[in-house]
Amino acid sequence: MLPAENVIIKSVKAFAVALPLTKPIKMAHAVFETVENVIVRIESDDGFVGWGEAASAPSLTGETWQGMVSLVETYIAPLLVGRDARLRAKLLSHIEANIYGATGSISAVEIALIDLLGQRFNVPFSMLIGGMCRDYVEPMWILGNGSVDADLADAKSRHEKGYRSFKLKGGTQSIDQEIEATLRLRDLLGADSKICIDANSGYDLAGARKYIAATLAARVDFIEQPFPRKDLVSLKALAADGSIPICADQSVHDMADIHLQSACGVSGIALKLNKLGGVTAALHAADICDEHGMKIIVAAKVAESSIASSAIMHLASIVPSVEWGVSLTHAYLAADLVKHPLGLTEGKSFLGNKPGLGIEVDLDNLDRFRIK
Ligand SMILES: [Mg+2]
Repeated sequence: MLPAENVIIKSVKAFAVALPLTKPIKMAHAVFETVENVIVRIESDDGFVGWGEAASAPSLTGETWQGMVSLVETYIAPLLVGRDARLRAKLLSHIEANIYGATGSISAVEIALIDLLGQRFNVPFSMLIGGMCRDYVEPMWILGNGSVDADLADAKSRHEKGYRSFKLKGGTQSIDQEIEATLRLRDLLGADSKICIDANSGYDLAGARKYIAATLAARVDFIEQPFPRKDLVSLKALAADGSIPICADQSVHDMADIHLQSACGVSGIALKLNKLGGVTAALHAADICDEHGMKIIVAAKVAESSIASSAIMHLASIVPSVEWGVSLTHAYLAADLVKHPLGLTEGKSFLGNKPGLGIEVDLDNLDRFRIK
């Protein structure tokens, strides 16, 4: 019998960075120009390093970057240092037994743990978390420019670059403008592209019904998070109309939420690592969606660098169906944190066979954009 190859954790560090976007992204209740993300670095006692990342998203997870850095270094690090990273599931159970919520922080830590194991054993991230269904993903493009003409120009440019899936940010203009944008988008893109709309809780029932009725000809795949999560009355009413599938994003933070959304008539969920608490939780969520016959969109938070976006890509490679799309968000950043950002070839991003996340962190950029 071979001796056990322990991967003893020597250190767990957390940094915060402020990354500028190439241009502002407008959503129903926010405009993003710069994002504050937390980067986790875990090193083993034999010198291997794993990286993880999560966007701070107070309105989604309740976590600020200041709190995340403190939580990782003050509370999570002591639970990991000296332990064997191969026992990832046990370590995560230990963390979750001691810390409630903190899904973004825990996700960044779990990504770094898996990346570390991948580096140590020379295995890609995806092969450590499950069986691959595909070796590439076809990322969608988010349209959040705040005007119909700007969204159309953006879509045209991205369609020429190979994108074939587009998400319009709803609740940012009037309903009439969003109807116009949707109909003109379908005319512009033709039949070969998917269109969905994400209202980010910005619609009311009458508005959602008006939008849906007026855009049936545009064949919108689904409407994401039309209402605030507490408004189950509107949600059930819209689902009962049966006119378009509904996707839940801000309404889903744990497994119980998925059961509730399914019972309300929701057809699918947005699977985000920072919202669910990491890869293990996201895979569990995907299984529950499968049991309910729900669809999935696998999405990074706007905007995470190629560190977290790579984790999303690996996750998307093993989820049985990504019919509703994959959202990689590093492409909205003016600067990435890796030397070779995830690429796009004829609309596809390929996983490759490099160990772990398959990325090389750009330490100069990490320093340049570091705020903590
Ligand atoms: Mg969303």
